[in-house]
Amino acid sequence: EWLDEMLGDSQEGRVVSRYSLHADVETKSGQIFRCNLRRTLTSLVVGDYVIWRQGKENLQGVNGVIEAVLPRDNEIARPDYYDGMKIMAANISRIIIVSAVLPKLSLNIIDRYLVICETAKIPAVIVLNKADLLDEKERLETENLLAIYQNIGYQTLLISAKSGENMENLTSLLAQGTSIFVGQSGVGKSSLINYFLPQVNAQVGDVSEISGLGQHTTTVSKLYHLPQGGDLIDSPGIREFGLWHLQPDQITKGYREFHYFLGACKFRDCKHAQDPECALRLAVEQGKIHPLRFENYHRLIAGLTENKSQRHFST
Ligand code: GDP
Ligand code: ZN
Repeated sequence: EWLDEMLGDSQEGRVVSRYSLHADVETKSGQIFRCNLRRTLTSLVVGDYVIWRQGKENLQGVNGVIEAVLPRDNEIARPDYYDGMKIMAANISRIIIVSAVLPKLSLNIIDRYLVICETAKIPAVIVLNKADLLDEKERLETENLLAIYQNIGYQTLLISAKSGENMENLTSLLAQGTSIFVGQSGVGKSSLINYFLPQVNAQVGDVSEISGLGQHTTTVSKLYHLPQGGDLIDSPGIREFGLWHLQPDQITKGYREFHYFLGACKFRDCKHAQDPECALRLAVEQGKIHPLRFENYHRLIAGLTENKSQRHFST
């Protein structure tokens, strides 16, 4: 586990790639070191800030050791096949929920992602792709739907990876901090990543070359620097993040505009359905909560993935 000879003092760095046995750590000056992990490290993911030390490079190309992980601002996790949650990445500044106007905009899926972002306490941005496919009337309707989310404090962007519409706004949004793209397949995540990082495949190739001796190292997740500033963490697993079963309590807390009203329901175990004197239902009637959000809330609680009229994804 330890390298023959340690060089230099402990210093801070950030995990930019995580492999099964190693991790690539980037220094503040942008140098990358392939590190072994101390056995005491129970969890280490891309995005982690770590304390590490340089060592004399061994035959496997390893030239550092990670000694400790610094406390995380936040982490994203998915339910593990065996038990509990498996952490996928840490220290995320925002989650970009990518959705598309075609086949049809699914607010239900957006709400589902928002619940997960609220649970993880990570800011969410709703990005609606394929704007080039909208005619004038559809564009207006779409903007009205996005306004539902703007009114409760979420940032939204109507973009087209194809025509380039609004891509400069997405670029400047990504320029600060660390972002991830999530969303169902077919919405255009790969197209967006290719737009921002046309060299992604090249970078992946570079990494396995420096692993030495033709060893196969599969990247779980990787952190990329965007040319216009900011970082993007990406992996196939992260792109499909979030489409698992949600707990009812988590769903209720995940509707941020409900918080103010929840305490005012007459009954403590109010299901916010036909219950008498439900403060949420009253708020919907008074126009303080949008009826589509309330409807989707009940769909999520009932475990329904999408409105029948919005059923257009095969998954
Ligand atoms: P992913 O599954 O989320 O990674 O989605 P892809 O990037 O593979 O895109 C799915 C399909 O949508 C592809 O055929 C893309 O060419 C298409 N697509 C992506 N972005 C746009 C866009 O802005 N406008 C249009 N019209 N098609 C797009
Ligand atoms: Zn209620």
